[in-house]
Amino acid sequence: VRQAEKLACYQPAILTDGHRVEVVANIGAAAEAEQAVNAGAEGVGLLRTEFLFLNRSEPPTEAEQLVAYIHMTRSLNGLPLIIRTLDIGGDKAVPYLNLPAEENPFLGVRGIRLCLQRQDLFRTQLRAIFQAAQTGPVKIMFPMIATLEELIAARQIAEEVRADVGTDRVDYGMMIEVPSAVLMADEFAKEVDFFSIGTNDLTQYVLAMDRGHPVLAKQADGLHPAVLRLIDQTVQAAKAHGKWVGVCGGVAGEPLGATILTGLGVTELSVSIPSIAAVKAKLRSIAFSEANALAQRALRCRTAQDVRALR
Ligand code: PEP
Ligand code: MG
Repeated sequence: VRQAEKLACYQPAILTDGHRVEVVANIGAAAEAEQAVNAGAEGVGLLRTEFLFLNRSEPPTEAEQLVAYIHMTRSLNGLPLIIRTLDIGGDKAVPYLNLPAEENPFLGVRGIRLCLQRQDLFRTQLRAIFQAAQTGPVKIMFPMIATLEELIAARQIAEEVRADVGTDRVDYGMMIEVPSAVLMADEFAKEVDFFSIGTNDLTQYVLAMDRGHPVLAKQADGLHPAVLRLIDQTVQAAKAHGKWVGVCGGVAGEPLGATILTGLGVTELSVSIPSIAAVKAKLRSIAFSEANALAQRALRCRTAQDVRALR
């Protein structure tokens, strides 16, 4: 029995009626790609590239980044790797960038906004990513997109770099983590290959509660019906354009969250390495019709507490 339990994490997350969900990992270090595979991940749904830029005195070179990315494509051995471009600024201290202090860092020059201002950083990273994309199935994802102009500008720069590096077509996705991106999801869906919903930031921005606030932590719940309705809206918009939707925020790694998200039509869950086995096991124990019924009830709940009481 022990052995069977151990091996179960390597089975795909196929629901009792055959509906398939991809369970992939969130990682933030080169060595974690191998750990993710060993834990049963079917790939990496979110590589947080910030680790390459933190705790040092100058930005990583193209060669340094390339070594890290290739290390991961090798470890993944043909499994997909979604590389998110740099998401710093805000509250993450990167002294060598000399970023001006901001009164509201979470509403400031963060993520893609910083990359569009500091194109030296952005282009160097993209050059490394496109070279790594020649060694395995790499997809690119842009963080913190709030407006269509940002997405178009980011993709335009990426395409210039891609042509220069000489890499074939690469899938582009964007994080859905700002409420405006949900409201405009039908427009964004025309411009990308996939969405990945970042419920950590989406919750923070829609409830106006700092995601790291010690007092508000409990209320800033990613299963709040307001967040679930935004996720539902995002999935509907993506589906209308034939695009797929993943979730890479923390709720994807909770069994209840994974069930509700699956019921809403999300087809990829990117979770922390320790959550992979439990999420897969949960999904294998239910039918899509059950997940969907639960999701519909969750959408009608009035509070996060009511959602969490659902069975
Ligand atoms: C999120 O915001 O939900 C997310 C996955 O990105 P990060 O936690 O890195 O901001
Ligand atoms: Mg985020």
